[in-house]
Amino acid sequence: MTHSSPVRSLFLYLLCLTTLANVANAQIKPGRDPNQPIDQEYTNKIREYTTAPYFNSPLTDYLPVSPDVPTPKSVLGDVAGAPGKLPYAEDVYKYMRMLERASPRVKVFSIGTTEEGREMIAVAVASEQLISKIEENRARLTKLADPRTINMDEAEADRLVAASFPVYYITGTIHSPETGSPTALMELAYRLVVDNSPYVKFIRDNVLTLITPVVEVDGRNRMVDVYNWHLAHPGQNWPPLIYWGHYVAHDNNRDAIGLSLKLTRNVMNTYIAWKPQVLHDLHESVPYLYDNTIGDGPYNAWVDPILTDEWQMIGWNNVSEMTKFGMPGVFAHGNFDTWSPGYLMFIAATHNGISRLYETFGNGGADTLERTLSPGEYQRTWYRQNPPLPKAKWSQRNNNNYEQSALLTSLYYFGNNSKLFLKNFYLKSKRSVDKPKNEGPAAYVLPGDDPRPGNQAELLRTLQAQGVEISRATAPFTAAVRKKPGSGGGKNTARPSASPSPGASPTPEPKTEDRTFPAGSYIVRMDQPYSRIADALLDYQYWAPNDPQTDIYDDTAWTMGELANVEVVRVTDTKVLQAPMERVTGDVRSAGGISSNGSVYLINHNADNALVTLRYRLKDVDMEAAEEPFESAGRKFNRGSFIIRKASAEELRRVANELGIQVYAVADAPSVKMHPVRAARIAMMHTWLGTQDEGWYRIGLDQLGVPFAYISTQDVSREPNLKSKYDVILFAPVGRNALAIINGMPMYGNPLPWKKTELTPNLGRIDETDDMRPGLGWSGLQNLQKFVKDGGLFITVDDTSEFAVNYGFTQGVSANRSQRLRAIGDILRIKTVDPASPVAYGYGDSLAMYCFNGPIYNVNNGVGGRQRSQQRATGRGTPDDPDVPQGRPPAEIPEPPPRVEPWEAPPVTEEQRRNAIGLIPPNQRPRVVLRYADSRDLFVSGLLDGGDEIAQRPAIVDVPSGNGHVLLFSTNPFWRGQTKGSYFLVFNAIMNWDNLNAGRKLDEK
Ligand SMILES: [Zn+2]
Repeated sequence: MTHSSPVRSLFLYLLCLTTLANVANAQIKPGRDPNQPIDQEYTNKIREYTTAPYFNSPLTDYLPVSPDVPTPKSVLGDVAGAPGKLPYAEDVYKYMRMLERASPRVKVFSIGTTEEGREMIAVAVASEQLISKIEENRARLTKLADPRTINMDEAEADRLVAASFPVYYITGTIHSPETGSPTALMELAYRLVVDNSPYVKFIRDNVLTLITPVVEVDGRNRMVDVYNWHLAHPGQNWPPLIYWGHYVAHDNNRDAIGLSLKLTRNVMNTYIAWKPQVLHDLHESVPYLYDNTIGDGPYNAWVDPILTDEWQMIGWNNVSEMTKFGMPGVFAHGNFDTWSPGYLMFIAATHNGISRLYETFGNGGADTLERTLSPGEYQRTWYRQNPPLPKAKWSQRNNNNYEQSALLTSLYYFGNNSKLFLKNFYLKSKRSVDKPKNEGPAAYVLPGDDPRPGNQAELLRTLQAQGVEISRATAPFTAAVRKKPGSGGGKNTARPSASPSPGASPTPEPKTEDRTFPAGSYIVRMDQPYSRIADALLDYQYWAPNDPQTDIYDDTAWTMGELANVEVVRVTDTKVLQAPMERVTGDVRSAGGISSNGSVYLINHNADNALVTLRYRLKDVDMEAAEEPFESAGRKFNRGSFIIRKASAEELRRVANELGIQVYAVADAPSVKMHPVRAARIAMMHTWLGTQDEGWYRIGLDQLGVPFAYISTQDVSREPNLKSKYDVILFAPVGRNALAIINGMPMYGNPLPWKKTELTPNLGRIDETDDMRPGLGWSGLQNLQKFVKDGGLFITVDDTSEFAVNYGFTQGVSANRSQRLRAIGDILRIKTVDPASPVAYGYGDSLAMYCFNGPIYNVNNGVGGRQRSQQRATGRGTPDDPDVPQGRPPAEIPEPPPRVEPWEAPPVTEEQRRNAIGLIPPNQRPRVVLRYADSRDLFVSGLLDGGDEIAQRPAIVDVPSGNGHVLLFSTNPFWRGQTKGSYFLVFNAIMNWDNLNAGRKLDEK
């Protein structure tokens, strides 16, 4: 790269200012060009379907006509937003491709497919001139996006900015019941192509608009099916949209952290390939248009302040312009906190662009309805000076008017200030590269000797999918790292240990110490353009318990290293950047294969998820688990390590290579107690009430190649012999209480079918039923209990654990909901209580887990399981003194019972044994495998308030029942593809389902 002379820089700078000034001065009145004919019939329909004149704007109250370009009516049969019309994704694409054929101003790109194989597209719309320069503009934007390529040369950046046009990326209907945006975006594309009004022409000449009209394509088509069913059955209730995408529902907009879903990956790849300055996602749940771009605090702590200023500028311009149109109910701010980076739009915020989101008002279909708002929705607030009407007739056309008008004013504003935003795009990218020199850190290091290289590689691949560059040390190196408080360093150096009590004094400047990392350590350098997303994902979060934001929108923590059970060290010492290293090309993979020789194969159990894939891939190979740690061939093996005595070396080598698993061949099996680890037959049980959270379990199992049958509570109600079909039934959280699981939906009205028919070709693909209403029922409950008694393993989590506890599956356990605790999607430390339990195989003495106010368990050796108070009664003396009855000699106090920890059952007393009706036999008593850490160690990341309520309580309990077991989780081991470090607790239970009592110490009495 050549370095510009100061004189030339000044010249370019002045030139740039002039250009900027010219563009920024453009003030064009919105509204039609009187010389351009309009489509009168279409325009009449717009007026007819708009329920009041003030629900439209001069930008969208007409439709211009062009002799060559078809209007949306050519596909829809009516205008965009017409009542009763919801197009399938394919119809939307068909129209976009008709536009492409009709006009050189449109190009349609395929950007990938969904889980069910449906296409996703991106449609570029701009003047012929801009469209013809897409590639050269992309080359310029790519340089602005990576200032290293121009040696951070400001003058060169200005030249590129002057020559470039911005890309504004709009995404529609990620949330399937929010139905309006596809037709709004069809018509918007048409207007951008055809309209010769100076306002729209200005946009066309200055901005490349990129549109993905349908993000959740699988869910869109199911929603259209359900809506069509509704139209065909007037006067009847219609089936709720139980499945949106193949795996999850609204959580598809929480996947920008874990990138588990194809839609997220496709939008991410499009974002990275096109380098747009904005990613603007369209939603519908607030009247009439909530531009939540600015939102409310706390803002995400890792984004550039330049971005948060841009939010203010763009958001308020939008509100102001729409207010001038006289459209009621347009506002910004609101109470949406902008903390989590999990939203789709946040791909832009964490990659040097601008994230935007509209909530418009939808009717969940295309019916025109009288809508009555709640006071909270229609009352005036400081940020909503022209609130929505308390009551109004509302149509999908109204919605389309709002969406298009707001988008057009945004595009115009963006075009009018394009040089400013392009320069900001460069500055944000440059400041990301400068991170080590400014706020830091310099890098994150993932040590080359991590005990879980497979999970480490998986975490790094997720970062790679975020566009982050990964380097690998070619030799050992030393850097100063934060000293672990109270010790000489070592693991979890970056972990804060303080309890987050609001009164705690600020921690003093942490001391550092030198740490040497081995060759092969991974280094995530922060002097790269996408350093912000890596920093945001790898760092810790702190949400103050007294934060003024009380309406917490989503999770407060997502620290990836902790959730992956992988060590991540934050290094501020810039010396780390001088370590000998090379960029990783291709995906990060852990090394696998067979070392040494012998006919017995040993695999250390390190809780790497690839081990479960291995178990199922080689499902016919006998494998055993060691019940104790052992040494062999000079290596240490953990409890649970696999021992394979008979397998094809060739096949094992191939699979181990592919999965990145180290296999050690030895001559003789170790002399340690062992039991079979089996490829159990798994059923995932779902309700017809909600499938949101269980989708994250299905995707986790599918990604790792763990087969399962997918059954509903209705299937279970009809199957008395579940054990003949399944070894393990997994019941993920439902989000409903135990009675709702039994009862299902109310049986009023008509049946609600969910199945594939001619009318509903996209339903039934995942599961189907003639009537969604019936639940598990009492027969289903009996069948499940029989399954456990017959020797099955029933795994429950959070609310389904409460179901198991409250409906008699788990003698000796009770569960309460917290009163004071606020663990709002945070990360807590969990301690191993019983390392000999197969559930804990491969784990160390502690683990970080995702928790959302999980149930608080008590365990007991008697039926019922109530915790007894160990506190003294009111009386004389200090809290540790005995009371003294007056007027008689003191009585002899019996030896107090041994102190019982909050996760333990109180020991059986002689009084209980006298007539032991309620006493649980020792081999049927609950076995606490992991517990919540002590108060002062409990907090890892996010918001924790009132943690003493759950501190030290059981977190994961194995409850024997008859010949089988129930495994209760208070934490959630499978959450949004982010908690890969806790998956193996479930896999351990599955593979050891018939040997869960291994290593168990029974009470003597
Ligand atoms: Zn939404």
